[in-house]
Amino acid sequence: MMKIKEISSRTILNRNPHPSNWFGVHYAANFYRGCPHRCIYCDSRSACYQVEDFDHQVEVKTNALELLQKKIRRKRKKGTVGFGAMSDPYLPLEMERELTRGALQILLKSRWPVFILTKSHLVQRDLDLLNAINKQNYACVAFSITTANDDMAAKVEPYAPRPSERFKAMSMLSACGIHTGSVMMPLLPFIEDDWENVREIAEKTLENSGSFLVPSYGVTLRDRQRDYFYDRLDEEFPGYKERYKAKYRNSYGCTSTKAKELKGKLAEYARKQGLSLNMPSYESMLGEKQLELLFGSSSEHKDF
Ligand code: SF4
Repeated sequence: MMKIKEISSRTILNRNPHPSNWFGVHYAANFYRGCPHRCIYCDSRSACYQVEDFDHQVEVKTNALELLQKKIRRKRKKGTVGFGAMSDPYLPLEMERELTRGALQILLKSRWPVFILTKSHLVQRDLDLLNAINKQNYACVAFSITTANDDMAAKVEPYAPRPSERFKAMSMLSACGIHTGSVMMPLLPFIEDDWENVREIAEKTLENSGSFLVPSYGVTLRDRQRDYFYDRLDEEFPGYKERYKAKYRNSYGCTSTKAKELKGKLAEYARKQGLSLNMPSYESMLGEKQLELLFGSSSEHKDF
């Protein structure tokens, strides 16, 4: 049972100094803190984020939309606003509170581009707004998928919608022309870092008309997040905590021992199948727009 705590926030848009390092996002917006999906590896559980009772409480920023409206009005330079860095923007509570939806309405009116990272098919509810934003300039929805297997997902992402539901949503969004694909982040060493898993995610992404696949061959672990992860390993994968400890000790970055092999195989697969291993972005769309102006295109006009 999740507790709900209503809070009033002082900040809503966090500027990202290096957009190219984080999916082309210039400003990160989080309307919730804490996440009921309770993925066993979630980095937002780390002590540095100071989220109280991450797994059992969701903090709701009740003034988020008012604040967003004010901040957007004051910004002189537009940039892609990203949802989903600290909590899933489509957690079940969103169906009632509609903060993500409200933010999309504000960004549509203000003509700002949007990037969403989610593990939930509930993003389908906002297809109308995403479609309108995408026609105006740019909307991208990346699905976080670390395994294509629903049974494995039940162990590592126990309360998130299953990957099969995420892939169906991907298909629906791509049918409307919204940029969509998969982010394989993290691929858990010893558990998810095998070619069969990576290939299955790539195949399902293609089958559902996703256009990109962004991998991360490993996981990051620190302080209380590591403790939580190890406790869950003991429950779901007996003996694996010991393998992690022996291999990674106290390292923050835990890179898969198969990273090089997987990278090579995926690059080959992506090349053959025409799948991008890079996230599209507002800037790359601008580049395409310039090419269209130079060489002409039948595609719809995008307003940058
Ligand atoms: S959905 Fe994202 S924010 Fe929520 S628990 Fe999983 S990894 Fe963390």
